[in-house]
Amino acid sequence: MNEPTYTDLDRERLMQKVQMHMSEKRFKHVLGVEEVAVALAEKYGASPVKASIAALCHDYAKERPDDEFELVIRRDGFDLALLNWNNAIWHGLVGANFVARELEIEDEEILQAIRLHTTGAAQMSLLDKIIYVADYIEPGRDFPGVVEAREIAMVDLDEAVRYETKHTLAHLIENENAVYPKTLETYNHWVAKKKRS
Ligand code: FE
Ligand code: FE
Repeated sequence: MNEPTYTDLDRERLMQKVQMHMSEKRFKHVLGVEEVAVALAEKYGASPVKASIAALCHDYAKERPDDEFELVIRRDGFDLALLNWNNAIWHGLVGANFVARELEIEDEEILQAIRLHTTGAAQMSLLDKIIYVADYIEPGRDFPGVVEAREIAMVDLDEAVRYETKHTLAHLIENENAVYPKTLETYNHWVAKKKRS
C-alpha cells in the first residue's frame, strides 16, 4: 500500500487549515468522523492515514458560499446540471477540488472518498465506505437509529452502507427533498432487492 508519510505535525497542520474554514461545531464533527474512520480503517484493513486525511478534509468546503461552487463547477468542467443542486451535493463532489487545490492533497483514493461521502455510489472502495459510514455514525450524531447503525458498522461495513443508504433516502423522501440521481444509484445497488431470473 502506498502509505503517504504522515507525522503528528502533518496532521496538526492539516487540522489547523481545516479548522480555519468552519464553525467550531462542524470542526468537532470532523474530529468525530476522523476518530471513527481511523477505527474502521484499523478494523477492516484500510489505511488509517488515508482515513484520517479523508475524514479531516471531507467537509472542508461545506461552509463556502454558493458562488464559489458555481465558479468551480464551470471552471473545472463539471456537468453543468450540477448548478441545479445545492451545497448538500456540492460540498463533497465539488469540494474535493477545493481540497486538492488548497490543501494540496493529490491522493486520488482520498479525493474520491471525499467526493462520494454524501451520496455514496454503486461502486465504493473500502475507504469510500469508511468515510461514508463514519460521517453518519460519529459520536456527535444523534438521530433515531444511530445506535443501531454504529452496532452494524462494527460487524459488517457493507451492511452499514446499506442501512445508512436506506435511511438517508427514506429521510429525504419523508421531507420531500429532491433526491440526487447518484443517491438513487447507491440505493438501487446497495438496498433494492435484485430481480432474480
Ligand atoms: Fe458532508
Ligand atoms: Fe460530514
